[in-house]
Amino acid sequence: MNNADPSAVEWDVIREDFPILRQEVRGHPLIYLDSAASSQKPRCVIEALRHYYEYDNANVHRGLHELSSRATDAYEGAREKVARYIGAASAEEIVFTRGTTESINLVANAWGGKFLKAGDVVLLTEMEHHSNIVPWQLLAERTGIKVRYLPVREEGTLELAELDKWLTPEVKIFAFTHISNSLGTINPVQELCRAARKVGAISLVDAAQSAGHLPINVQEIGCDFLAFSGHKMCAPTGIGALYGRRELLTAMPPWHGGGEMISSVTFEGATFKDAPHKFEAGTPNIAGAIGLGAAIDYIEKIGRAEIFAHDEALVAYAIKRMAELPGIRIFGPSGKRGGLVSFMMDSAHPHDVTTFADRYGLALRGGHHCNQPLMRKFRLPGTTRASFYFYNNRAEVDRMIEILKEVQRFFA
Ligand SMILES: *Cc1c(COP(=O)(O)O)cnc(C)c1O
Repeated sequence: MNNADPSAVEWDVIREDFPILRQEVRGHPLIYLDSAASSQKPRCVIEALRHYYEYDNANVHRGLHELSSRATDAYEGAREKVARYIGAASAEEIVFTRGTTESINLVANAWGGKFLKAGDVVLLTEMEHHSNIVPWQLLAERTGIKVRYLPVREEGTLELAELDKWLTPEVKIFAFTHISNSLGTINPVQELCRAARKVGAISLVDAAQSAGHLPINVQEIGCDFLAFSGHKMCAPTGIGALYGRRELLTAMPPWHGGGEMISSVTFEGATFKDAPHKFEAGTPNIAGAIGLGAAIDYIEKIGRAEIFAHDEALVAYAIKRMAELPGIRIFGPSGKRGGLVSFMMDSAHPHDVTTFADRYGLALRGGHHCNQPLMRKFRLPGTTRASFYFYNNRAEVDRMIEILKEVQRFFA
């Protein structure tokens, strides 16, 4: 990852792959700095969807006709791409879901529902997205398990010195984010998984902010589960994946019941297919999976190490330029971070900053970023966030700085 040379990539040419970026918003060129909420889509992904619907559309697995077998090949081919992309041992370890949220709910319900009992502890961190908090709280209401949170330090990193204290023998699963969507913190996932394993706990990595941004290998990380969303990495909405180690997926019962996931059904009961199919009840998002496969091909062609180096350089440049502004607080670690920056301006509420920026065609995000407990801990009403991807450039950062100066003049 360190020897990537982002200067060898023609980023301006790559930007042309994104038709949506060519528009004006409110009379200004669109500056899209909200990719941490959802990324834009390159033409090749849009084309993959169109091609599927124009030539190959049919339901998967059940049909004995040509279109159905083409759709099935494309759908299962996408599963193999996902497996290779994250270094899974086999495609059977990849369950297609609607995204990170559904993946975590699947683990909480199917794995947690069977293997956790009253008194067991689910360890999270204080920087988790609501989608890695609420499924566990719902499970706790049903089963009497306890949910605990590894603290986040003032500077935005995890309190790693206390990790051993929190990883007690009652902890059965440690679930944490790879990159924080509000702070940009990159957590040492390998170390966290190793620490979990030492106390006999399994681990779940929320890779929503990392899957499209840096190289990931689940076997090197040593995680038991890993969840991510397609729409944050150039793919369509409504598709994502759960990686699960084979033994775990095999031991877990189904969560949703229906067609596609059974081997046989009688009026009395049913037997189920093997993983991953037993977790994919009903007609899946076939087009979405194919779009995700196209997004993976596209990202791999650019190179994830190069993408990370690009984002890292751009966010460093943004932070350096923001430091020119008086009355601004920048959150998150001062060292290595993902391609996003959250900030507060003394002169204006985060929502006002965001609404003001929108008048100039600048898309930022203002609010709690689905991290309400963290915002409350830091006594913040929310933050404004600028998040970057490989189609953004320095000229856009410069324009953002001009607009933020305008905010200060307006609200002064
Ligand atoms: C976006 C995000 C999620 C939720 O992803 P969905 O696509 O909405 O399911 C979870 N965790 C993190 C860190 C995120 O950034």
